[in-house]
Amino acid sequence: MAQSLIDRIRNSSLKNKIFFSVTAVILLISVLIALFTRWILISTLTSELKLRGLGIGYSVAESCRGYLLTENIPQLTSQVFEARLGARKELVGYVFILDKQDQILAHTFTSDFPDHIAGANRIAPGNDHRIQLMHTGRDEVYDVAVAVNEGIYRIGSVHVGLYKKHIDHLINKLRTTFLGFVSVVIIFFFIISHYLSKTITQPITRLTKVSDEISRGNFDVQLGLEKGLHQSGVKDEVRQLSRSFINMTNRIKESQAKLKESDNKYRSLFASGPNPIFVLDRTTLRILSANPSAEEVYGYSKEELVGRPFTDLGPFELDENKWADLSAQHAGNVSIISSKVQYFKKGHQAFYVNVHACPAPYEDKNALIVATTDISEMVEKDSQLIQASKMTTLGEMSAGIAHELNQPLNAIKMGSEFLEMMIEKEERIPERELFQIVREVSSQVDRAEGIIRRLRDFGRKTDFTKEKLFINDPINSVLDIIGRQLRLQNIDVRLQLTSNLPPILAHHNRIEQVIFNLLTNARDAINLKEESGLRNNQRNILIKSFTEDDQVVVAVSDTGIGIDPAVKTQIFEAFFTTKKMGEGMGLGLSITSGIVEDYGGKIHIDSTEGQGTTFYLSFPVVQ
Ligand code: ADP
Repeated sequence: MAQSLIDRIRNSSLKNKIFFSVTAVILLISVLIALFTRWILISTLTSELKLRGLGIGYSVAESCRGYLLTENIPQLTSQVFEARLGARKELVGYVFILDKQDQILAHTFTSDFPDHIAGANRIAPGNDHRIQLMHTGRDEVYDVAVAVNEGIYRIGSVHVGLYKKHIDHLINKLRTTFLGFVSVVIIFFFIISHYLSKTITQPITRLTKVSDEISRGNFDVQLGLEKGLHQSGVKDEVRQLSRSFINMTNRIKESQAKLKESDNKYRSLFASGPNPIFVLDRTTLRILSANPSAEEVYGYSKEELVGRPFTDLGPFELDENKWADLSAQHAGNVSIISSKVQYFKKGHQAFYVNVHACPAPYEDKNALIVATTDISEMVEKDSQLIQASKMTTLGEMSAGIAHELNQPLNAIKMGSEFLEMMIEKEERIPERELFQIVREVSSQVDRAEGIIRRLRDFGRKTDFTKEKLFINDPINSVLDIIGRQLRLQNIDVRLQLTSNLPPILAHHNRIEQVIFNLLTNARDAINLKEESGLRNNQRNILIKSFTEDDQVVVAVSDTGIGIDPAVKTQIFEAFFTTKKMGEGMGLGLSITSGIVEDYGGKIHIDSTEGQGTTFYLSFPVVQ
């Protein structure tokens, strides 16, 4: 019961709380004041009336003393009636006189004297009066007894009976007046507290209504609280609250407008951007939405795209570790997920893309915004460039290759000439020898075929694909082609290849191209050093392969001219060359670094001018 009352108070409106608490306090104070005043009034009024009774008693005693001594009954009787004359009748119920033996001498009772009251209020010796409440048989009275003395002797007593009902009546009258006054005061405060609670809570009620509207997205509501708020020095807390509230709504309005603007900007970017953009569900990687460009590029309609797993279009994997902190940050951190990957249009038509993604909320879902940029043309140009540079290298090598092919051809020629001579001489060739010659010819044909095959392989145009590759393989096949030529130029090529290296993700043909570029540059540097007149008896190239910190490393060192520190940062730029016209195109290292980066690798150079250079290539190991 008490709990439910507390709950009701707690849940009632602020207005009612203020109203009821102010009213309760006023009521309590009024009741306390009423009780206190009543107590003071009753006690002072009663004692005042008793004093009046005493006054009457004393005056009767004074005037009766002589008649009492002489026991003059008629005089005494006239005295007592006189004492009860006029207005006193209202208050004074009776007056009577007793002699010293408490015998009645005179009284004002018109009927029989009620005997029981004669000795009921006896004055103790030494006192001269006594007041006692008693009952006459009809009324309650305060009996005021006053002693009548002659010298030191008591000769009798005068009794004045004061009506208690008269006193009570007076008190009641006072009480009614007082209660009326208190009620008027209460009603007055009641109205004031009602008005007060209303004025205090009205702006708050208004604020509540307005904030409800705002939470529903309606920012155009009029607050109606602005009046006078902009003056400085407003101390009223509710008005201060209103002011902050108005400021807050204005700021929200502004940021809403900005948000709308940027939302529109992104919407138009999404709708009319040239790149395909997809919104994916972060967990299932299914397409939630796609822009018109996505429909156009991939050849699917929006209906076909929505709901389809994004991986239907091409490979898409999130590195969860990297994404965990990216997602934790604010949305909008675009990160490249994969570059130069093959994606497929409707009908399985392949093309190359770079994939960018960023986390973003979408319709209360954890989503990803993925953009794919078509880079097929760039990839095509890249591979054309690589091809052109390969062809240049092949052209450069043609003299050496011709020389190399010459050897098996010579051997075959020698064999066939020997056979021809024997046939001409009509000599019989021993079977063993014939067999040996035929075998030699066949093996020389194999050798020539090998050279041609390697050249053909090298010259073949490769697309951009990755496969597991053991780095020693392309190193060996490049040396098969140009190793002999390098040796013919008096260059000592040494190999320190670690066997059983873990694989990397790359393409044989392209890594061959890289090794090739490094070896031809090393050769040029060695030749240049000699041309520049530096005394040099070392013409060495050392190729090493090893692992270091989860990386497969290839190091190509030469004892060439070295790189001028001033151009060290420039050598990877396309068309940068220090070689003579016609000797260098300046594309070798730019192509090399492009290929190495495509496979997630890095290049590091260590060079001392005049002493030599080492190129370190490092590639991540495939897990
Ligand atoms: P090119 O060989 O056609 O000049 P590259 O891009 O292969 O083009 O090389 C650019 C430049 O880098 C070369 O001109 C040369 O100055 C320098 N360079 C490359 N490799 C070496 C090396 N092993 N030693 C000294 N300099 C080198």
